[in-house]
Amino acid sequence: MTDAPLKLFNSLTRSLEVFEPVHAGEARVYTCGPTVYNYPHIGNMRAYVFADVLGRTLTWKGLKLTHVINITDVGHLTDDADAGEDKMEKMAAEKAQSIWDIAEHYKQAYWADVRALNIRQPAQWTVATDYVPQMIEFAKGIADKHCYELESGLYFDVASVADYGRLARANTEEGEGRIEAVEGKRNAADFAIWRKTPAGETRQMEWDSPWGKGAPGWHLECSVMSGEVLGFPFDIHTGGIDHREIHHPNEIAQNQAHCCTNGLDDPKNSGARIWMHNNFLVERSGKMSKSSGEFLRLQLLIDKGYHPLAYRLMCLQAHYRSELEFSWEGLGAALTRLKRMVMAVEQLKLRHAELGSASMADLVAEPAEGWTLKQVQGDDWGKLQGALDKFDAAMADDLNTAVALTALDDVLAAKKVDPDKKAVLAAAIGAVLGLNLFNLTRADLRIRPKAASITEEEIEAALDRRKEARAAKDFAASDAIRDELSEQGVEVMDGDPLGWEWKLA
Ligand code: AMP
Ligand code: ZN
Repeated sequence: MTDAPLKLFNSLTRSLEVFEPVHAGEARVYTCGPTVYNYPHIGNMRAYVFADVLGRTLTWKGLKLTHVINITDVGHLTDDADAGEDKMEKMAAEKAQSIWDIAEHYKQAYWADVRALNIRQPAQWTVATDYVPQMIEFAKGIADKHCYELESGLYFDVASVADYGRLARANTEEGEGRIEAVEGKRNAADFAIWRKTPAGETRQMEWDSPWGKGAPGWHLECSVMSGEVLGFPFDIHTGGIDHREIHHPNEIAQNQAHCCTNGLDDPKNSGARIWMHNNFLVERSGKMSKSSGEFLRLQLLIDKGYHPLAYRLMCLQAHYRSELEFSWEGLGAALTRLKRMVMAVEQLKLRHAELGSASMADLVAEPAEGWTLKQVQGDDWGKLQGALDKFDAAMADDLNTAVALTALDDVLAAKKVDPDKKAVLAAAIGAVLGLNLFNLTRADLRIRPKAASITEEEIEAALDRRKEARAAKDFAASDAIRDELSEQGVEVMDGDPLGWEWKLA
């Protein structure tokens, strides 16, 4: 039985590296969380599906995982390069609500998406405004050697640390140009770690500091929360690929200043051993922009009748480092694939019930900390061994979920194998991918848009009447019921290979 070495792509070195924990047997991971000024779009949620798959894979590999995701409720400006307004202040003004209410509302909405996508709860959600005293202490510690004060705030001098911008490849042709937004900055890339409240103004969120009343900079928040909870250096820092350009280079510079270390030839000096970034979900018509009216929220997918895990599966079909294009056709195809898996699992449940042995739920129950390779390693899997090895190797190969999914297909399609063995392996693999296959039913996956005027009970009742009519050979009545349903947007699907009895158009 193989236990493939876990290789992950480190954005800092732009290479695949074998994962070697900082603390033996552990994995400490920090994920940049959402700014809770608006609903997350499904692209944002791709970042958390990715971080969740990473976490589940670390667990699979037997590491004790400590995962932290933050909630940004202050400091993130409308422009990452230090310009514009605080996103939270801006939304609060637009809605004439308090920032605290805005933050609470959108945090809850984000958490609802997290649950719907079967993203595991991290060990800790750190909320930025809970850490302001620690942020001030951190800033005080680096201010003398690395910062300077301007009228608008305390700025970090990026020339004061070695290798600034290496993560972004900022000094090479690969790098992005920088924008000088504030007059008086020493270097274009310098950024505010403390933003003073302008004289004569009062912000909804402001704190006293040695540099006057104000609020922390966004980059400072993540340096402080990650270091406080996980300790420098920790193992892995994740975020979307946009963070590779500004936010994470700035976090790294602060971490270097704080840890009194120098260059980045040793990645540990950046504060984390490995920096990982998911690529973007893109959509051609611009519906991903939060400023467009009906933007792509997970709830929109659900309202149109798609099960949220179909979106999760859609994400898993692409490698996290590849751009993924969203389309409704693609989502529909993912839903169909998920349904095939659930149907195969339903077959296994039936076979299990026929054998009359102990409950299926007990057999496939996920261990409290999640499935690990060790838990399945000792068993004789016979013909299923190849699929298990393929799965383990795929996940170890920088989270190749697309191939891992084919290993799950292989398990579910295997012929002449013990159905209970199949079930356990499908449950374990499905759980590492976060697909929750054993708790879904075909009916859960039925397309039923929220806007439909007919209820499911009404449809089922009509179909029952139709069955009776057909049994009585009253085909005129049966056709009439079918036509009535059709007028109400219900397509009756006799003999559908996927077992859909009906669908709402
Ligand atoms: P924000 O709330 O803007 O800080 O973003 C939350 C997370 O979503 C960050 O890790 C971003 O990098 C990530 N992100 C933003 N847009 C997309 C997208 N279209 N696809 C994937 N990830 C994204
Ligand atoms: Zn961050």
